[in-house]
Amino acid sequence: MKVLVINCGSSSLKYQVLDMTNETLLAKGLVERIGLAGSMIAHEKVGQDKFKLEVPMKDHKDAIGHVLEALLDKDHGVVANMDEIGAVGHRVVHAGEKYASSVMITEDVIKALEECTELAPLHNPPNLLGISACKELMPNTPMVGVFDTAFHQTMPPESYIYAIPYEYYEKYRIRRYGFHGTSHKYVAERAAEIIGKPFDKIKIITCHLGNGASVAAIENGKCIDTSMGFTPLEGLVMGTRSGDIDPAIVSFIAQKEGVALDDVNNVLNKKSGMMGISGISSDFRDIEKAAEEGNERAKLALKVFAHSVKFYIGGYMAEMNGADAIVFTAGVGENDIGMRDMICAEMECLGIELCANCNDIRGKEAIISTDTSKVKVLLVPTNEELMIARDTLEIVSKK
Ligand code: AMP
Repeated sequence: MKVLVINCGSSSLKYQVLDMTNETLLAKGLVERIGLAGSMIAHEKVGQDKFKLEVPMKDHKDAIGHVLEALLDKDHGVVANMDEIGAVGHRVVHAGEKYASSVMITEDVIKALEECTELAPLHNPPNLLGISACKELMPNTPMVGVFDTAFHQTMPPESYIYAIPYEYYEKYRIRRYGFHGTSHKYVAERAAEIIGKPFDKIKIITCHLGNGASVAAIENGKCIDTSMGFTPLEGLVMGTRSGDIDPAIVSFIAQKEGVALDDVNNVLNKKSGMMGISGISSDFRDIEKAAEEGNERAKLALKVFAHSVKFYIGGYMAEMNGADAIVFTAGVGENDIGMRDMICAEMECLGIELCANCNDIRGKEAIISTDTSKVKVLLVPTNEELMIARDTLEIVSKK
């Protein structure tokens, strides 16, 4: 079966078509500036050059229309007619406490996801627009929702309850949800395969370190804790997000700067993290270049980031009474040799020993710890689209 994977942002849309008979990628693409001037689609059939087309797209329905046209195109397409697409898998960020795994999208599911919009006001609305556009244009194709929050739903209450009046959890569902679940699950399953242990009998700490970053503790195949919280702002230091701070800082800044709480929220999401500390960029490559040139704030940003990851690894090892494996993934985790080295340095007391030679690698699956390291350290490139396609195939096949 061929599966179309759709990941809708507010003005962008990423897609892939995979042939799930052998899990191969057939085509992928990106639509940008939906609803804005200069909207365009960049489509790539595997083995061919990318083609780009600038064409007005007033909304997500227009965008999906152009995606389907590209998939049917006689030169760049991968299907002869739309019936060849057996199912569509949609990435949806927030499913609240409603879904602990992927589900077939029905009217009831759409209603439940609409109710979660309050919890993810920036993400769920475009995800839902993508679903309704696909339903209109492909009314007979089954659709599956794959949720960023789902994998973390196995956390025990002591991991997800905040120590604020319990009534806020009851009234508003304020709790830790966690995000990047599809990625954490994919790389943890791969890590178990690589080291040859059953996924449901292993303790793994997964470090998804990209522009957004989170760590998860996975015990016997189930997530038991994760660093992102009620929103993706909590936890690690990120590209432009602060991660953990003393909550009292929020009203203190608002008062001192004479700005509204929403403005402080914006600063914590968009002007903090690596960008905020370094004052240079949110991109680790720029920060590392500046650090090499002697910039002290760039050096400090890298140290603060490494410290925050180390802190969670140590905490999760304490929670699980050890770990069999630590996995690095996403832009920084897959490519930043120096950062992996900084994070894993001086953790021999926890049984973590990085192998300098094996760590000299980017973007490929590898074991990067020494042979004697008690805890295996791995690099596993993430593949959220494949995970979405797998879930989609599984659910559609059960129907
Ligand atoms: P992601 O959000 O997973 O796409 O990760 C994007 C981030 O990965 C970028 O902002 C960079 O900070 C980081 N990144 C990508 N390539 C490299 C590299 N070669 N070295 C260091 N950091 C990198």
